[in-house]
Amino acid sequence: MKYVFGLAGIAAALLFAGGASAQLPTDFSQTVITTTPLRGNTYMLMGEGGNITVAVGSDSILVVDSQFAPLYERIKAAITAISDLPVRYLVNTHHHGDHIGGNALFAADGATIVSQANMRTLLETGTVNGLTGNVTPPAAAEALPAETFDDMLTLRFGGRDAELGHPVGAHTSGDSFVRFRDADVLATGDIVTFGRYPNIDFANGGNINQMIEATDAYIAMVDDDTIIVPGHGALGNKESLIDYRAMLATSRDRVAALIAEGKTVDEIIAARPNADYDTAMNVDETRIGNWIRVVYYSLAPR
Ligand SMILES: [Zn+2]
Repeated sequence: MKYVFGLAGIAAALLFAGGASAQLPTDFSQTVITTTPLRGNTYMLMGEGGNITVAVGSDSILVVDSQFAPLYERIKAAITAISDLPVRYLVNTHHHGDHIGGNALFAADGATIVSQANMRTLLETGTVNGLTGNVTPPAAAEALPAETFDDMLTLRFGGRDAELGHPVGAHTSGDSFVRFRDADVLATGDIVTFGRYPNIDFANGGNINQMIEATDAYIAMVDDDTIIVPGHGALGNKESLIDYRAMLATSRDRVAALIAEGKTVDEIIAARPNADYDTAMNVDETRIGNWIRVVYYSLAPR
């Protein structure tokens, strides 16, 4: 198993406790936005929350995900350091707060926000976290996507194409990936996280089986040179995707076997069925438990 660890990924994993299952951090004063050049005028930004992809065309920029509103000025400065062209599109991979926090500010600066249609509905109606019961109220109108799609959409900007697609019912009901064929870069959203367990928003359309299906689709879509920008964690490649897929399927099968024995979710957590992965990922009790819970509630809905 070759998980890709990076300092920034580990820092992000420590700071951020897991998508919709998390208490959103409130102190961003120490957060630094780092820029990693990928290929073909395409970059990854890391700060706190979901990874950001920045794709620069001849006359404009497309950005994937927007982390948290208090980081907007720092994110904007990092983008401007790459190129002072305007941000024409902001694509949201899904509705979680650590990926859409900067939406209204990007829109106020002239970006058109684009997402899968179900994602817009989740933002518009608000959501309840299936693990914690925490309520996310309806988003402000300014933060909502102005343009949505159902299955596929190609956005053209400055001579480049961003291909958006919708894996059905995986991390949430409204996931998108963004593929830049010219740079051979794939931004996966939170369907893929490297060096940490993913969250699965089972209360809002996510499911472990479709997480595995979507990861299979990603593996089929890429080649050995493709750069994978995961929702969280360090950059990866096809091999990292294959290892990650094995972790998902193994965890699913282990939890399914214990469900078949009649075990409760708490008994399964106590049994530590994923001890090997827990050690490899250096996770704490909360994350170990939450990973079991999101798999369990995918397979045995309440
Ligand atoms: Zn998420």
